[in-house]
Amino acid sequence: MAYDPRDVIDRSRLPSPIAIDGPAASGKSTLGHALAEEFGYTFLDTGLMYRAFTLAALREGVLATDETACTLLAETVGMRVEAGETTVIFLDHEDVTEWLRSPEVEANVSAYSAIRGVREELVRKQREIACTGPVVLAGRDIGTVVLPDAPLKFYLVASEDARARRRAAQAGAWGVNQRTGDAHRDIAGRDTVDSSRAASPLRAASDAIVVDTTDMGLQDVVDLVLERVRCAAS
Ligand code: C5P
Repeated sequence: MAYDPRDVIDRSRLPSPIAIDGPAASGKSTLGHALAEEFGYTFLDTGLMYRAFTLAALREGVLATDETACTLLAETVGMRVEAGETTVIFLDHEDVTEWLRSPEVEANVSAYSAIRGVREELVRKQREIACTGPVVLAGRDIGTVVLPDAPLKFYLVASEDARARRRAAQAGAWGVNQRTGDAHRDIAGRDTVDSSRAASPLRAASDAIVVDTTDMGLQDVVDLVLERVRCAAS
């Protein structure tokens, strides 16, 4: 019979929740998928929730400069999140996942994500999902704000060059046409806003394991993290 690691890991001992934070295109989603596949974790990519809110605001014509309207929209928007091996997001029953990587969303997401009222609402949803069993959450503030008591936290870093190359390579699979130069600009712009905002800025939790992936293949990063989880579960 084929070896299935889920048979030999006692799921009740899996560390949960696991927090994965880091700047844009640092490999968080790849890692989340790998943990879901290997151990059966539910994977919630919280970046998709901020992207879905951004899509809703753009569709409604609510500007990021209008914090009151954005907060009201966050409280009333019909957002449903299905987290499994991947994260799927619905707005009023429409599966919008495939629209969340569009250039319009990409260009605006950091501005909407900086709004405190929007964050409070999305964090509330994220905590609800985090209670549902062995889960991995990926984002910017998971280890610091959303789940400060998570027993295992990773913070991924990589040079801007390495991340821009990876993002441009990934973009094709998402049906988006993005050259490395464009990816560079987008990543640098989002990192600046995400790190300098007043509400939950991007930073590593003091108890996070920091992994610099600049000179690592993504598979090496995955192997390193899987090993840490296996150790924690044994
Ligand atoms: O992870 P991803 O790059 O898809 O996230 C898109 C944007 O959503 C980030 O640039 C950031 O502005 C916002 N975000 C956030 N907090 C999170 C996850 C994402 O502010 N936990």
